[in-house]
Amino acid sequence: MIPLTIPNLTGNEARYLAQCIETTFVSSVGPFVERFETMVAEAAGSAQAVATASGTTGLHVALVAVGVRPGDLVVLPSFTFIASANAIAHAGATPWLFDSDGASWTLDAELLARTLAGETQPQDGGVVHKASGRRVGAILPVHTLGLPADMDAIVTNARALGLPVVADGAAALGATERGRPPGKLGADLTVFSFNGNKTVTSGGGGAVAGDDPALMKLVRHLTTTARTGEDYSHDRVGFNYRMTNLEAAVGCAQMERLAEFVAAKRRIRATYDRALTGRPGVGLFPEPGRVQSACWFSGLTLAPPAPSPERVRQVLREASIETRPFWKPMHRQPPFADVPRTAMPVTDDIWKRILTLPCSTHLTADDQARVIAVLGEALA
Ligand SMILES: *Cc1c(COP(=O)(O)O)cnc(C)c1O
Repeated sequence: MIPLTIPNLTGNEARYLAQCIETTFVSSVGPFVERFETMVAEAAGSAQAVATASGTTGLHVALVAVGVRPGDLVVLPSFTFIASANAIAHAGATPWLFDSDGASWTLDAELLARTLAGETQPQDGGVVHKASGRRVGAILPVHTLGLPADMDAIVTNARALGLPVVADGAAALGATERGRPPGKLGADLTVFSFNGNKTVTSGGGGAVAGDDPALMKLVRHLTTTARTGEDYSHDRVGFNYRMTNLEAAVGCAQMERLAEFVAAKRRIRATYDRALTGRPGVGLFPEPGRVQSACWFSGLTLAPPAPSPERVRQVLREASIETRPFWKPMHRQPPFADVPRTAMPVTDDIWKRILTLPCSTHLTADDQARVIAVLGEALA
């Protein structure tokens, strides 16, 4: 069986884990947590990072920290993993769903500017959604599949309207836009995930990265139960959202190999793209010239005269090759079916056509050649 994507744990993971046990630092205080935060901040190009229990909890605490309040709307592309929308709901807010741009599969910045101009009005230094009277609390662009959103346009628009920006960079460590890493793209906070299926993993985990010392201090404070002293004093409702030293131990060993892993992901993507270019009905995953994607996943889109994604998936399954559909858009999920949204032609089109392909960082050239050969038969 060639799996879709599995963790590559052949570095210092086991050794660092043993050190946690030997030193008894297994919980949320410990040297690996600090080291992990330094490594993530550096890779993100941010002044600081706070490690969290997951990407979801990182997004939740980031939204609260930038001032999102119960009852707010938070702008979100519909084409994302449900964690981004869940984090908005955990903050008591509601996603305002937007279509993506067909050339990047990220939040459509022109549609965003047009819609905010037409459907909101200024109030108290920010904007409210005219139809519902709800305050817009933040903009949450997503670096889809490790490809940075059009942050220059999004951030310029947000600043003009007085809105904070929290970027969901879950799979974007290692990506750049015009040479800039994700933390240097203008967001107030950028959130990463280290879940088991991400390019670098801590088993489960996340991180919030940013430059503003006061904001980062608030993020750290909120993740550690808003504790003000060792006498069990707390100054607000906080969270227990810290990463443990055990997770950070694995995370450090993985971060040591970030550049190697992202290079492998990009090589795998390029090999598939070469094999698939020019086949009728077959589309490639996007990479506009302004970015170097972290290429979290590889895959293709299928439209007639190519066979359906289900059919191709079946042929590959019969050859013991795992493939999968990808994110069902948020406007098609029951918890978010009734939230405000734009029309979704691009998002629906991607969702119906997409298929992801095996892309573990240690996928061998022979195994990838086998995937490509079977894929060729399926498409013929
Ligand atoms: C993986 C992912 C998350 C969630 O991270 P968890 O660590 O699983 O909570 C959020 N957003 C996107 C876009 C993701 O891909």
